[in-house]
Amino acid sequence: MANIAIIGGGATGASVFGALLAHDAPDTVHWVTGSEGGTGRGVAYGAAHDHHLLNVRASGMGLYLDADDDFAQYSSRHRPGSQPTDFLPRRLFGEYIEAQLSKRLHHAQQRDRHFAIEPFTATRLRATRNGYEITLNNGESVTADHVVLALGALTPRPLRTVSERALASGAYVLDPWSLTQRSIQPRRLTVIGTGLTAVDTLISASIRWPDIELVAVSRHGLLPFVHPALPIAPYPHQAELNAKLMACEGPAPIFAEIRRLFREQQGLDWRSVIDGMRPINARLWQAFTPRQRRQFLRHVRWLWESSRHRLAPEPAEIIQQLRDEGRLHVYAARVLDVDGAGPLNVTLRSRANQVATTLQSDIVVQATGLDTAVAFAEHSLLAGLLKDGLAIADPLNLGVLAQPDGQLINAAGDVQHGLYAIGSLVRGNLWECTAMPEIRVAANALAAQLNTRSVLQPDLATTL
Ligand SMILES: Cc1cc2nc3c(=O)[nH]c(=O)nc-3n(C[C@H](O)[C@H](O)[C@H](O)COP(=O)(O)OP(=O)(O)OC[C@H]3O[C@@H](n4cnc5c(N)ncnc54)[C@H](O)[C@@H]3O)c2cc1C
Repeated sequence: MANIAIIGGGATGASVFGALLAHDAPDTVHWVTGSEGGTGRGVAYGAAHDHHLLNVRASGMGLYLDADDDFAQYSSRHRPGSQPTDFLPRRLFGEYIEAQLSKRLHHAQQRDRHFAIEPFTATRLRATRNGYEITLNNGESVTADHVVLALGALTPRPLRTVSERALASGAYVLDPWSLTQRSIQPRRLTVIGTGLTAVDTLISASIRWPDIELVAVSRHGLLPFVHPALPIAPYPHQAELNAKLMACEGPAPIFAEIRRLFREQQGLDWRSVIDGMRPINARLWQAFTPRQRRQFLRHVRWLWESSRHRLAPEPAEIIQQLRDEGRLHVYAARVLDVDGAGPLNVTLRSRANQVATTLQSDIVVQATGLDTAVAFAEHSLLAGLLKDGLAIADPLNLGVLAQPDGQLINAAGDVQHGLYAIGSLVRGNLWECTAMPEIRVAANALAAQLNTRSVLQPDLATTL
C-alpha cells in the first residue's frame, strides 16, 4: 500500500485531494490542511466581500476536471440569474469548493476509500527508508510514500526599500486582506503594485473609507487590462500561430511575431490571441534558456501579467470612476524609500522625468504579487527541505526546482522520487500554474500518476 500525503489546505490541495479520492485504491490519502483549518478556500476564495470578483468567467472555473457539477451550474442554482459568462464573487467559488469537497468525501466514505484530514501545519518532512515522514505541529507525524506540496504563495517579504522603522510602525501592511479590519480612518493610503490584488485593495479601501485619498504606484503604472463584457470569439488561426510561436527561440521573436500579427490584422481583438496561447504558455517557458527567462522577467513580465491576468469589467469601472473623481492617482515610478514611524514618507522616482518626490501616507500596502522565493522564505517546512537537500531553489528564485511532472530535484541534482510540488511553488518550471484552469489540469494529471504508482520507486533509498 502506498499512502499519499498532500500538504496545503488551499484550492490546489483540495483539487489534488478530490481528484485522488475519485479513484478506488487501497491506500490512505492524508490531507494536511494547516493549523488555521484550511477548507480548500485558501487565500483567494475565503475573501469576505462580494466585490472581490473572480477574474475568470464562471464557465472557466472549477475544482476538478471530472466535475459532476461545474461551477456555472452551481452558481445558477445558488445565485439565481447568474450566467456562465459572469465574473462572480470569489466567495461563491469558495462555497462551491467546500460543497464539491464534501460530496467527494461522502462518496469516498460510501466506497470505503480511506482518507484522513489533518488540520495541522507540517513543520518538517524527512525522507525515510520507506518514504517520507511528516511532522505536524501537534507533535504527531504522518508517513507516506508520496508527498505533494501544495503550499501556495509564501508570506510576502517587505521590499528592500522599506526601513525597519516603517515596518515597526504598523503602518506598512504586508497582508492586503487584513487592511479593512483597521478601525482608524487613514487620510491617504498608498498601494505599492498595480495588479489584481492592488485593485482589490483600492476598491476595498474606497468602500470602507469613502473620503480617503488613494495612490497606486508601480514601475510602469499599468493597471490590469480589462476583460470584455462578453466572451470574444477565439482567433480562427490560433493553432497555426501557436505552432509558429513554439518554433521561436526565446521571448523576443515570440513578441515580435505577436506584434506583427496585431499590425497586419487590424480589428483583431488581442485578448483572444493571448487567451489562445494558454495551452502553450508552459511549453514556451520551458523552452526558454535561463538567460531568456531572465529577459522575459526583466523586460516583458509587467506587460504580460497585465494582459494575461485581466480584470473583470465591474471592478475596472469602479477604478475608472475613482480616477475620474480624483480619488485615485496612479503613478509610474520606482519606490526609492519608505520610512517614518507613521505617517510614512514614500519617496518615488518618476518613470517619466526621473524626478524624486516624497508623499506622506498613513498606510502603505505592499501588493507586489506572489512571493515564491523559497530561499528566503520563513517557512519551516521549506527551510528544512532546502537544508536537508531534498529540494533546491529554482535558479531564478521562482519556487523549487522540479521536473515537468512536478517531482522535485534534490541538491544532488537527482529526481527526489515521490516528492512533488504543484501550484505556485513550481512557477520556475511552468510559469503559468497559479490559476484554477491550470491547477485543475495539473491536479488531475498528478492524481492519475500517483494512482498508478502504488509502490515506492525502488531507487528512493539511494537518495536518502
Ligand atoms: C487574491 C487572489 C485572487 C485570485 N483570483 C483568482 C481567480 O479569480 N481565478 C483563478 O483561477 N485564480 C485566482 N487566483 C489564483 C489562486 O492562486 C489559485 O486559484 C488558488 O487559489 C491557489 O491555491 P493554493 O492552494 O495553491 O494556494 P493558497 O490559497 O495560498 O493555499 C495554500 C494553503 O497551504 C497552507 N500551508 C502552507 N504551508 C503549510 C504547511 N507547512 N502545512 C500545512 N499547510 C500549509 C496555507 O496555510 C494555505 O491554506 C487568485 C489568487 C489570489 C491571491
